[in-house]
Amino acid sequence: METFGCQMNVADTDRMELLLFQAGYLRTPHVEEADLAIVNTCSIREKAEQKVFSLFGGLKPLKQSNPDLILGVAGCLAQQEQSVLMERIPFLDFVMGPDAVEDIQQIVSRVNQGEGPVLWTEFDSQKNYSIPEQTLVKDPGASAFVNIIKGCDKFCSFCVVPYTRGREKSREASEIYGEIRQLVDKGAKEIILLGQNVNAYGKRGLQQPVAFHELLYGIAEIPGVERLRFTTSHPMDFTRELIQAYRDIDILMNHLHLPVQCGSNRILELMRRSHTVEWYMDLIAQLKSEVPDIALSTDIIVGFPGETRQDFEGTLQLMEQVGFGSSYMFAYSPRPNTPALEMADDIPHEEKQERLQETIQLQNRLTEEKGRAFLGQEVEVLIERKTTRKGMSFKGRNPHYWSVVFKGGEDRLKPGDLARVRVEEVGGHVLRGSWAGQ
Ligand code: SF4
Repeated sequence: METFGCQMNVADTDRMELLLFQAGYLRTPHVEEADLAIVNTCSIREKAEQKVFSLFGGLKPLKQSNPDLILGVAGCLAQQEQSVLMERIPFLDFVMGPDAVEDIQQIVSRVNQGEGPVLWTEFDSQKNYSIPEQTLVKDPGASAFVNIIKGCDKFCSFCVVPYTRGREKSREASEIYGEIRQLVDKGAKEIILLGQNVNAYGKRGLQQPVAFHELLYGIAEIPGVERLRFTTSHPMDFTRELIQAYRDIDILMNHLHLPVQCGSNRILELMRRSHTVEWYMDLIAQLKSEVPDIALSTDIIVGFPGETRQDFEGTLQLMEQVGFGSSYMFAYSPRPNTPALEMADDIPHEEKQERLQETIQLQNRLTEEKGRAFLGQEVEVLIERKTTRKGMSFKGRNPHYWSVVFKGGEDRLKPGDLARVRVEEVGGHVLRGSWAGQ
């Protein structure tokens, strides 16, 4: 199983793996040994799409030497481009969208019975969003993802998600609490709530209405949850109550990933982001006034159709003003079936790449400045695993979601423990240091 794209896809792959395990399959790291190979795809960027086609180019000889090998494509690209996939990879046995994750056993069984290729990309708009108990992760580790909402109603003009994952649907809070209790029983210490647009939680699809901030307060009551995070949010669904939740809930970590995409109102309007620069900056100011040490990260697109140098400079200015600790930065590429496809993709490739490099350089400087502030400080680290990095013992994350590797404590510490670490060096978005005692 190979996964491209976001954490939603990673979680979907985990669930498919569990269901396939129940159907008798075991994961192998050697594709040559596999009876079944699934690529869980992403269509948010053109690059991810190209990687999928080249991966299947590599799998073709295996299929030729072993016709019983079942090959399938899952995920957003499968949802959106099933006919292109079947045309370019005619030896595929199934193509399934993200909504079909729970049906993977049935899909594989149909292929095994000689039916094929199986296409499974219909949305069931009547179906509530519920994750069957048997697909819940059994061995979560210290930090566990929990899906709370799927789909998106925002329809940003550049984005395929509303078309590939459908409209927003929330999962009942009681089911989410139940899953978190189970995860904690199995050793999880940190819960990361997942969704394309988590803070729209509760707006659609719930029998028992619960708002997103209420869900956070509810999770904070569950014994054993030591850290709580969520990703990704939309600025327009960021309520005053949610800001207060940051202030009130101790286990809600002081980090927020809040995509802004760009720093020009004209381009934001073309992107159909439904907020302005001023609105975003006001939200950030409110957050900083309630939670002064909040760490912020974002998503940036450069070279959107019509973006002038002045628009782009607005983005650089916004990044500097907010002081993001990290950003996911991309050059715009037109995606099939999106409204932006109708706009002339008028920024030359070289210009987009230059703007991207400028953005990356600025972000590197901001990250360095933020990182320097940790030097000499003690930070609390949730240990995720041992590390093989030379001279280092463990890897984990601090509350601000920086990766931390540190030495010491081998005889006392284990994954899942919280450790105090003195920061001695910073490189990129990684802090290095020594155990300072528990
Ligand atoms: S908010 Fe916009 S960018 Fe995010 S998933 Fe929804 S449509 Fe896509």
